[in-house]
Amino acid sequence: MQKVEGGHLERFKKPFEVQRLSKNMYWVSVANYNVTVLVGEAGVLLIDVPIHTGKRVLKAFEAITDKPLRGIVYSHAHADHVGDSGVILKEVGANNIDIYATEEVRDALISHNVTLPASVTKIISDKLVFEGHTFDVYKNFDGHTPDNTGFLIEDGGRKILHAIDLIHPDQLEFRSFANVEDAIAYKNDIDYLLTMDWNVMVTGHSNLGYKEDVKFVQEYIRDIQSYIHQGHSKADFSAHLKSDTPFAWYDGYSNEVIDFAFNLLAEKYREGREEEFDIVAWSQVEVLFWAMFARAL
Ligand SMILES: [Zn+2]
Repeated sequence: MQKVEGGHLERFKKPFEVQRLSKNMYWVSVANYNVTVLVGEAGVLLIDVPIHTGKRVLKAFEAITDKPLRGIVYSHAHADHVGDSGVILKEVGANNIDIYATEEVRDALISHNVTLPASVTKIISDKLVFEGHTFDVYKNFDGHTPDNTGFLIEDGGRKILHAIDLIHPDQLEFRSFANVEDAIAYKNDIDYLLTMDWNVMVTGHSNLGYKEDVKFVQEYIRDIQSYIHQGHSKADFSAHLKSDTPFAWYDGYSNEVIDFAFNLLAEKYREGREEEFDIVAWSQVEVLFWAMFARAL
């Protein structure tokens, strides 16, 4: 696995980082947020422009090429990943710059009243073609958000996937798996990533992603699920129904199972990353507990 040097704390401090991925493709990191850059024959395409990074993203792509910006793509409707597109349009002038997104992303921006990113001007479906380069568009990533979109391109013999907020290489996943909207759909997204044919992934944050990084997350989720099952079989639901307070079992039963699973998870994953584990792990067990509870999984 070819990783970019440095940990994610350093990533916050550098003005920007650039890593060439293939003939025409680049990874750009600004403030621990990642952007994919495609340099075409005549112009440049960016996938995502995170909030408060626009000017530095421009500097990064100007360090790569002097070709003009011609397009910006939105991976999903979270402004923290796409919010500075308007800043970029203002800086370079909005002429001839297309804003691409799927119908689902466009509709989510509208229905959630996310007004910071520049308006979508081109709707994409199964393919995104930019100056003869073709991305396959994957609309089936539903866990983080229902509109989350993956982009896969083969360039210079390398298959590069842009898929955001699913894995965070070199660190544990963020709290509640990056505020996952549907933890079971998210688990399926992780499984699906491993069935796809790709070599390197541009993730939303931190370092470049590889299949090994996805396997780590897959095992972590499976372990949590298995520990939750063990917790259910140990805990006595009726023992928590004795209080006169309605729903006291919420606190009693669910916390008994979650604490049990959390302690097993700590035995396997806490050592060497104690501070990080203590910040994120309980919320991750909790979010999976309720997603499984609702479906009797
Ligand atoms: Zn997101």
